[in-house]
Amino acid sequence: MPLEVPPFARHPNQILDELGFRYDANNLYQQVANDMLHAAEILNLPHHLKLILAQPKAEIMCHFPVKLDNGTYRLFKGYRVQHNNILGPYKGGIRYHPTVSLDDVKSLSVLMSLKCSLAQLPLGGAKGGVQVDPRSLSQGELMRMTRRFITALDGNIGTDQDIAAPDMGTNAQVMAWMADTYMNFNAHQGRHHARAIVTGKPLEFGGSHGREKATGQGLVYTLERCLPDVGIELDQMTYSLIGYGNVGSWTARLLAERGSQLITVMDHTGAIINKKGIDAKSLAQYVELHGGVCGYPNADEIDVKGFYQTQVDVFIPAALEQMVHEANASWLNCRVVAEGANSPCTPAAERQLLDRNILVLPAILCNAGGVTVSYFEWKQNLQAETWDLEHVDRLLKKHIYCAANKCLDVSKRFGVDLRMGAYIAALENIGKVYHLRGIFP
Ligand code: NAD
Repeated sequence: MPLEVPPFARHPNQILDELGFRYDANNLYQQVANDMLHAAEILNLPHHLKLILAQPKAEIMCHFPVKLDNGTYRLFKGYRVQHNNILGPYKGGIRYHPTVSLDDVKSLSVLMSLKCSLAQLPLGGAKGGVQVDPRSLSQGELMRMTRRFITALDGNIGTDQDIAAPDMGTNAQVMAWMADTYMNFNAHQGRHHARAIVTGKPLEFGGSHGREKATGQGLVYTLERCLPDVGIELDQMTYSLIGYGNVGSWTARLLAERGSQLITVMDHTGAIINKKGIDAKSLAQYVELHGGVCGYPNADEIDVKGFYQTQVDVFIPAALEQMVHEANASWLNCRVVAEGANSPCTPAAERQLLDRNILVLPAILCNAGGVTVSYFEWKQNLQAETWDLEHVDRLLKKHIYCAANKCLDVSKRFGVDLRMGAYIAALENIGKVYHLRGIFP
């Protein structure tokens, strides 16, 4: 008897169907690609461009061994996905997290292409990651793993080819090890040039003023530009946060300076609430010492449902993807969702939010501050310059305001929500460059 092959669901999106994707409504890559292709459809981009953009240019997967402190060896799995480089060298963060998968990294690489285009940066989109919980490794193991990963990628990355940056689970120290590893193999490029392989480095080693806070700063500029249109002023605003890492904690510290009140926070250790406001700086110090928000003395613990249901003006997810989904979107009690994380809302959740007239500020706008200051760092390294913080902040604000204005204008022009507006604005730019350059040969 021949084996019966179950019929697989054809993808409702014509392009993804043509490329042979089996339909999976919960798959992050298909969600992101579907949204992008919807924007391409509205913009009437040519069919061949939609095909090109629906798949990354390269998907690198590698396995590499690392000696652990106890003398045994562990094999790690790493990814680097290069989505599109029509606007410039690939650019994107590297994530260390136990659940990193090829589909996640592919999705994030697409968002990077769109984000760089929206922010008017001469860069393309990429993303990378290693399947690991960095907290489970010693500093020595983390360093050896980082160096082996960069060694595995050498030849596929370069200061004018593909430039890395921090993301979840990686920080300035990890970036320093990445740069040092690359510099050891590429000394011929010269010191200033070779260290431009990675951004988000420590200030003393070619980093930029303002890079550590950049994503939070960009989010604050986005709120400053967009919230008055819906009658919310930063000095009156209440908000909740998922994630108190780089993006979450910097957003909170910068919003505290503007007089906004942080009411509730959730991270991987639990959720806390204080209706009178949580002190962002002292919470950041607590998280630094204890690894998470749980147990913070000046707030009460709250369960997950209570966290999502707390009434605030703005809800800011700044942790993992898909944390606002079909089952919990109806719990949200806010007027605006500002996506600090990439893809924190599933399409089904977003539909529910929009139906309830909740404004959704899309990730490619809200968190574009990180890659924008990364671009400034890359430029400073290549030109052997050091810019002061005022200059960085002023330029960042200009880029974010310009991107926000484009999203608002395009969404009005096409009668679409802000995510579609942002994607259309980004694709319009990419489409024009493809039109000018043509397809080789
Ligand atoms: P991070 O590693 O510094 O912090 C991650 C936070 O998420 C931590 O507070 C962690 O506790 C929390 N978290 C993890 N799992 C969770 C769970 N199951 N429930 C609740 N909270 C959980 O990471 P980051 O750099 O702040 O990145 C956060 C998001 O922002 C990611 O989506 C990342 O891609 C995006 N982003 C980061 C940057 C950047 O410059 N760091 C730039 C653009 C976008």
